[in-house]
Amino acid sequence: MSFIVAIDGPAGAGKGTITKLVGERMKLSNIDTGATYRCVTLAMIKQGIKLEEKEKILSLLNKIDIEFQTKDGIDYVYLNGEDVSKEIRSKDVNELVSQVSHIPEVRKNMADFQRKLAEGRNVIMEGRDIGTNVFPNANLKIYLDATPEERANRRLKQNEEQGINIPYEEILENIKFRDHNDLTSTVAPLKRAEDAVYIDSTNMTIPEVVDKIVEEVERAKVESLYEVGLPKYLQHDIDQFKKGLETEDHLLDCYFDELYGSINSAYYSNEISKKQADYLRFKYLFNREDKEI
Ligand code: C5P
Repeated sequence: MSFIVAIDGPAGAGKGTITKLVGERMKLSNIDTGATYRCVTLAMIKQGIKLEEKEKILSLLNKIDIEFQTKDGIDYVYLNGEDVSKEIRSKDVNELVSQVSHIPEVRKNMADFQRKLAEGRNVIMEGRDIGTNVFPNANLKIYLDATPEERANRRLKQNEEQGINIPYEEILENIKFRDHNDLTSTVAPLKRAEDAVYIDSTNMTIPEVVDKIVEEVERAKVESLYEVGLPKYLQHDIDQFKKGLETEDHLLDCYFDELYGSINSAYYSNEISKKQADYLRFKYLFNREDKEI
């Protein structure tokens, strides 16, 4: 069993910082999906493989072994046993990684790898298509947004702190360009999952965003505890009721009564706890204004 939090959103929305802070607070492993693409890029550079050499890239993907380790609170990345934590952030990798991440075979392979990394663990992952492609069944999906102007301002500040001097207009231009590429990409389009919680961080501080996501994680944790391992007939009635709500099925009232009965049966036959029964009643039945129970 694993618990998955997916954070998606445009470049410069603060996903990296926020994901790290929420992960630390909620004891979720932060899987750096960007580092997986960086490792493939570094391996290609080391072996002199060009972007258009599909066959060679495919065979490379079968040969590389990526590993993450944390020692004394510091994260390390290993590529075929070698510590490449610094090398994957080099200028050469920076310049090529985006193009490498747009190769369909690389994306598919990395998405499979990212799923494997999460097996049996409680994780938080940030990216562009985590909630839509890598983990469409994540326990919680967040779409973190901010206006291009605000994102450019944040990048400007970050650059100034690091002594990097790029004019605001140029940063804004670059952010708009990346947005356009991300939104129109045919390989990994940046798309908000329908069931994602949308957070516009334009006028929010970092601690405010972290608090808001932590609140959502707490809620999702309760849900995941109370909604796993339910008896089959109860799960069936929940699914039927949810579908009925979505499609405005004319039998919705019947589904409602069936679900009401199933929750009671499961509780009286000790198949679910009182807490679970209360939670399910509250979630599915109490908030329906058109029906009295
Ligand atoms: O996050 P980071 O800057 O290390 O990511 C490096 C590159 O990998 C990004 O610019 C993006 O092109 C790609 N990437 C991706 N999907 C992810 C994470 C990163 O395409 N989930």
